[in-house]
Amino acid sequence: MIHPEHQRRAYLQAMGIDVWLPRGEPEPEEAATVADDVAVAEDLDWDELRQCVVVCTRCELAQSRIQTVFGVGNQNADWMIIGEAPGAEEDRRGEPFVGRAGKMLDEMLRAIGQSRDAVFIANTLKCRPPNNRDPKPAEASACRDYLERQIALVHPKVILAVGKIAAQNLLGCDDPVGHMRGQRHDLNGIPLVVTYHPAYLLRSPSQKSKSWSDLCLANRLSKESAA
Ligand code: URA
Repeated sequence: MIHPEHQRRAYLQAMGIDVWLPRGEPEPEEAATVADDVAVAEDLDWDELRQCVVVCTRCELAQSRIQTVFGVGNQNADWMIIGEAPGAEEDRRGEPFVGRAGKMLDEMLRAIGQSRDAVFIANTLKCRPPNNRDPKPAEASACRDYLERQIALVHPKVILAVGKIAAQNLLGCDDPVGHMRGQRHDLNGIPLVVTYHPAYLLRSPSQKSKSWSDLCLANRLSKESAA
């Protein structure tokens, strides 16, 4: 077992690396169009789901993406990490959280005794919004059943929602992260913990201790679910 103080130090040591790139200006709201013939993801296995996502044209992001970013990690993970949407680096590499925020996420996971390979990492959106703008609600709802199917297939012991977009979409509310974090939520019987987005922590290092306590809560809940 990792000593909590060692974990804390490892986590704090990893802080303050890199800089945050600000998001672009938000764009006016537009409806995402969902084609009539799209498969409903609800009954798909992993390969079928991945295939569906690869060719998805449910919303306008299909036109600007380089590729879809399905998700990565252990399909039988105890922890599932859910972020917002791919950024430029993720769009280029086809993998979530590989840019600066991704390095921070890796450090957070390492500090709590997890790793990128042990957890499953996915995003609310599978395609990059241009200029890293916030996902539009219609885009999130067009993508929603992909994420729901991923959650059902992994069936994790705990979900960690990182950042406002993931938390609000999963919990169906518009509360700020500061109100949602630090407590146990429930998503169809799966414990869910909200914490700050790693990119936000790069900009606001003073919030890192709160994020650490969220990780400790998630760790406790995953162990309780396992018992
Ligand atoms: N931020 C996210 O929310 N997801 C990614 O994949 C990368 C950055």
